[in-house]
Amino acid sequence: PTLRNPEQWCRSFNHFIGQCLIKDFEARPSVTHLLEHPFIKQVHDKDVALQQQLAALIQEQQEAGCKTKTKHERINTRKTLIIQSCPDDDLVNLEFLDEEIIINHLQKRYDELQVYTYVGDILIALNPFQNLSIYSPQFSKLYHAVKRVDNPPHIFATADAAYRGMVTFCKDQCIIISGESGAGKTESAHLIVQHLTFLGKANNRTLREKILQVNPLVEAFGNACTAINDNSSRFGKYLEMKFTLTGAVIGAKISEYLLEKSRVIKQATGEKNFHIFYYIYAGLYHEDKLKTYRLPDRTPPRLHRKVMQDIVSSKLYKEQFDAIQEGFRNIGFTEEEVTSVYRILSAILNTGNIEFAAITSQHQTDKSEVPNSEALENAASLLSIGPEELQEALTSQCVVTRGETIIRTNTVDKATDVRDAMSKALYGRLFSWIVNRINSLLHAAESGMNVGILDIFGFENFKKNSFEQLCINIANEQIQFYFNQHIFALEQMEYQSEGVDASLVEYEDNRPILDMFLQKPMGLLSLMDEESRFPQATDQTLVDKFEDNLRCKYFWIPKRVELCFGIQHYAGKVMYNVDGFLEKNRDTLPADIVVYSLMDLLSKMVVGQPHFVRCIKPNDDRQALRFCKERVMLQLRYTGILETVNIRRQGYSHRILFEEFVNRYYYLAFRAHQMPETSKENAVAILERAKLKDWVLGTTKVFLRYYHVEQLNLLLREVI
Ligand code: ADP
Ligand code: MG
Repeated sequence: PTLRNPEQWCRSFNHFIGQCLIKDFEARPSVTHLLEHPFIKQVHDKDVALQQQLAALIQEQQEAGCKTKTKHERINTRKTLIIQSCPDDDLVNLEFLDEEIIINHLQKRYDELQVYTYVGDILIALNPFQNLSIYSPQFSKLYHAVKRVDNPPHIFATADAAYRGMVTFCKDQCIIISGESGAGKTESAHLIVQHLTFLGKANNRTLREKILQVNPLVEAFGNACTAINDNSSRFGKYLEMKFTLTGAVIGAKISEYLLEKSRVIKQATGEKNFHIFYYIYAGLYHEDKLKTYRLPDRTPPRLHRKVMQDIVSSKLYKEQFDAIQEGFRNIGFTEEEVTSVYRILSAILNTGNIEFAAITSQHQTDKSEVPNSEALENAASLLSIGPEELQEALTSQCVVTRGETIIRTNTVDKATDVRDAMSKALYGRLFSWIVNRINSLLHAAESGMNVGILDIFGFENFKKNSFEQLCINIANEQIQFYFNQHIFALEQMEYQSEGVDASLVEYEDNRPILDMFLQKPMGLLSLMDEESRFPQATDQTLVDKFEDNLRCKYFWIPKRVELCFGIQHYAGKVMYNVDGFLEKNRDTLPADIVVYSLMDLLSKMVVGQPHFVRCIKPNDDRQALRFCKERVMLQLRYTGILETVNIRRQGYSHRILFEEFVNRYYYLAFRAHQMPETSKENAVAILERAKLKDWVLGTTKVFLRYYHVEQLNLLLREVI
């Protein structure tokens, strides 16, 4: 690090202290000056021991003035530097390694509010559950075109690495964010977009603002408050930011996956509907609400009631509504379009209030009607259709048999189902329309390169798991598979390109589970699609079909629980309740198609250079500074972090360019004043002199095992 540049000094406090003691006493900036630096200040303010250490340093500095230190002092301080600057930002560098050590290390960092840690090129992000001051514009500047090791780990560093990879190698990049619900994926995605818009200096300020508003806008429609996360994404999102060849941002594109439409009509206890419903209720003018949108301000039944209850206290919803209005306007939606969006939302709310009653005449008992027409009329008028038309659509259906069209009437239950299906379909299409509209408004006129950011719902395991959880968890299996492939493939590639012969580490391959889901025609999804096509199929026949055809250790039918099946996912056992599976599978695109579209996405990403962010939830209570070891351990285990560290270590975890190696360790084989040439031969001379075993030479790098570095450092301490 340059001594005059405090920004490059602050990798960690230990490192910083080490740096402060470095030989060039005159050149180093004063400690007081360094304390003004935001990163240093932030850590300093929280750590009493460090405050004392620094106070002592400041005093020392003041007493010493600009006196040059004696040679003896210099050597001592250099020793301190070597001991202290050993970076603990990267788990791969840990001296000894087991689960306990990793956990303790992460905990220590978390306690010091260092929420980010590297595992080689992967970023681990622990959810701080509090606002940190490390995302300000000053920090954006800090993580701009610098070497990764010059700064503490940070989500901005990942964004910068992707951006730099794109500009330098003219290659598309993608950032894959994974983790459980509530672990911090969506926040991470926002921060990445924020940093990429900073790096991609759009000349055009409005474009930058537009891009920054895409996420909040889409999330108002696709996120909801769940038992786990107040702002849980109920859809998968892939945001591509488009850049010119020189790296200026020129546009964006979103793709959405698997919106959880069933939430529109029903939410589990303690959960809410999509945010936007609450926003419009709180935000629309009273008059407009009544006249234009036909949303009565008294307490109506069903959906409305839930919405209304929350509205009473929420100023926040009103603010969010204003922000959404602003977002629509900035991105370029017309007033008319926005009004239509609100009309459709209001239509959905009104539709939810339509009730049915049976008409019992002599011949027919399966006919229904809408006894109270207010909601029906409201919904129809908002959708610009006649109320009779709507009533007919809900209470009857056309069936075509042998070329003849027959009108069949719906029972109350059937009509209720149709009503709900209509609400879901309306919402789903509205959502897709908004996404498409955003894409056309932010379409990049020129072709260029892009950085994609994948933020999909994390692995879910609730008390009751349904079709939605199955889709989500299969998507996560795929992400995990992709992650494994990448980590191992990359390792292999580096060995190959350096001409090194090395065997690879074993890992938990989830391919067999994926096969069980995806194989045709006997995979779980194909079986479900097939069953969905039989009109007589029931939940029981579906379970039977699974039981007859799926024979592998990842699938089982529990003995005492009805209509359930269990899956051993990579992240743990999940029990699924098939209640409504067939219905939902028919209603949405067949699961098969959906999961393949996800495959498409993954194959598209494979083309780009991937960067991984693994979000981890330190506790289930959303509390700041609470680190629950068991919970973290579980997440580390099933995401394969431990294996990842092992891969990086059992292989040759340290690969150091000859030049860097010689510069770092020449004391071990040469005299201080010799300044040897930074060649391969001299690197070998050092390695031999240090009597290390089991190292390998690549074409440009020395390949070392993780313990070698510690051995070298110990030797270094002895000689200087
Ligand atoms: P996920 O998308 O993984 O379900 P979110 O990104 O929505 O999780 O995060 C859940 C909550 O955790 C957020 O609403 C926020 O309160 C908190 N959070 C996550 N990341 C951060 C962060 N970097 N700084 C502060 N709070 C965060
Ligand atoms: Mg999310």
